[in-house]
Amino acid sequence: MGTVSVDREMCLGVGNCEHVAPKVFAIDHDSVVRFVGDDTTGPIPVPPDEQEAVERAAETCPSAAILLNKEQA
Ligand code: SF4
Repeated sequence: MGTVSVDREMCLGVGNCEHVAPKVFAIDHDSVVRFVGDDTTGPIPVPPDEQEAVERAAETCPSAAILLNKEQA
């Protein structure tokens, strides 16, 4: 488990995260990342069954706008 945050200032809006983990990330009408079902920028708990997808999204985000903290519950 862990938590994830998004940095909307850093986001380039390419949508890689939405493609990799569509249950967690979406691109809003401003072409910036947001969480699905959560209007905050986090941190939010990573859903257990989405851990792998969120890690992949964080690793492949071109602007390092997805901040994953694996230590926190
Ligand atoms: S992958 Fe990164 S830059 Fe691209 S939309 Fe997601 S958070 Fe933004």
